[in-house]
Amino acid sequence: MRDGTIVVAGASLAGLRGAEGVRARGFSGRLILVGDEPHLPYDRPPLSKHVLTGEIAPGATTLPGVGALRAEWRLGTPALGLDRAGRALLLGSGERLPFDRLLIATGARARPWREPEEAALPGVHTLRGRDDAAALAAGLAARPGRVLILGAGFIGCEAASGIRALGLPVTVADPAPAPLAGALGQVIGGFVAGRMEAAGVDLRMGTEVTRLEGEAGRVRRAHLAGGGTVEADLVVVALGAVRNTGWLAGSGLRADEGGLSCDGACRALDEAGRPDEAVFAAGDVARFPHPLYGGRPVALEHWGNAVAQAAHAARAMIDGPDRVESYAELPAFWSSQFGLTIKSLGLADGADAVAIVQGSPRTGRFLAVYGHEGRTVAAVSVNAGRWLPAYEAPIREAAPFPPIAGGADQPSPAPVPPGLPPR
Ligand SMILES: Cc1cc2nc3c(=O)[nH]c(=O)nc-3n(C[C@H](O)[C@H](O)[C@H](O)COP(=O)(O)OP(=O)(O)OC[C@H]3O[C@@H](n4cnc5c(N)ncnc54)[C@H](O)[C@@H]3O)c2cc1C
Repeated sequence: MRDGTIVVAGASLAGLRGAEGVRARGFSGRLILVGDEPHLPYDRPPLSKHVLTGEIAPGATTLPGVGALRAEWRLGTPALGLDRAGRALLLGSGERLPFDRLLIATGARARPWREPEEAALPGVHTLRGRDDAAALAAGLAARPGRVLILGAGFIGCEAASGIRALGLPVTVADPAPAPLAGALGQVIGGFVAGRMEAAGVDLRMGTEVTRLEGEAGRVRRAHLAGGGTVEADLVVVALGAVRNTGWLAGSGLRADEGGLSCDGACRALDEAGRPDEAVFAAGDVARFPHPLYGGRPVALEHWGNAVAQAAHAARAMIDGPDRVESYAELPAFWSSQFGLTIKSLGLADGADAVAIVQGSPRTGRFLAVYGHEGRTVAAVSVNAGRWLPAYEAPIREAAPFPPIAGGADQPSPAPVPPGLPPR
């Protein structure tokens, strides 16, 4: 398809890269990007890192390439519905946008605190968008007496790192046994916990917050299961993400809070599992069968996946779904916190063993490989990113675990249970 109309719902990383992709493949028709935020596409990773510490202004995160795109923009306008039979996107402004191809790239939003009244207390923040980061940075500039972070996942830990760098007292609470345990397991999480405590974080693992209490019109303390409170005048709710699929209700597509199901050509699936030839999905919102992991449906929250999957969807839209291979990008992400650069390849969830194969947690530089039933499934480097690419092929090939026998600087890597939650 070289002309006609392509509409993109969601004007962020995957939406922009998908739009660039169709233009790069010679699409010369009408291209319209619809975004509910008022901003042009911007980058989110700095929001929990350099934006919090004030090194980058929230407004300085606009993605490169935005200006060069030949497209129409509908910003500050949510897509509210999809008429699949009539091939039209229905906007909050009342506009009806007919399309020949639609790319759904509506991503995810921060999971809010479960009690709406408590979540709405002044001083309670989430962190997903540029406006969230600006509000949080302003709250931090008022020098709160203590910051409480709910959740020790990537965003919670990165925020804790940035807020400690500002010299503010920080408590992190999470029912899990170790930070990052859900993604990387307790072995790596235990190492990160040591770094957090050394940086002065009051780390409360195995701790559930049950209630946020306000006083004098703003949040004042959190109540813990089993008694006890934490006094805090700023709370960051970092409890993971929920996919933005609610607006697809009634469209007949297979979508829920875990994502919009699509096939290897990024075509959205209907409730019966049939691909819609005109509707595609990419980025955080997309749940797709990963060939490297037995075709199990996965929905990733990785910057690199949003870029690669959007390019794949663009190829499928322009060249035709039969002309593309099944999407098989190796999942990869990075995080920086507490002086650590953590990089990951593959999917560790479901792994039954982990082995340190290079370096050592003692020195703060190491590489860990994850195995499942004797096969290599993932690798994580901590301040040792240059060792990571060597593990890409063993993961792709599901090589025997632990891989690269004799190539590791550990004479005999000793696998241990990774301490991951059940999948
Ligand atoms: C604070 C933070 C830090 C991160 N750090 C890292 C990192 O270090 N490394 C890494 O690999 N990944 C990181 N990520 C993840 C990465 O940013 C995401 O994977 C990426 O943004 C996904 O892009 P996307 O375009 O699919 O979705 P999103 O970026 O979520 O964009 C979706 C867009 O669609 C809009 N939208 C939603 N519903 C509608 C609707 N109905 N109509 C119109 N528009 C709609 C949303 O408002 C949003 O603008 C981070 C994410 C956050 C939030």
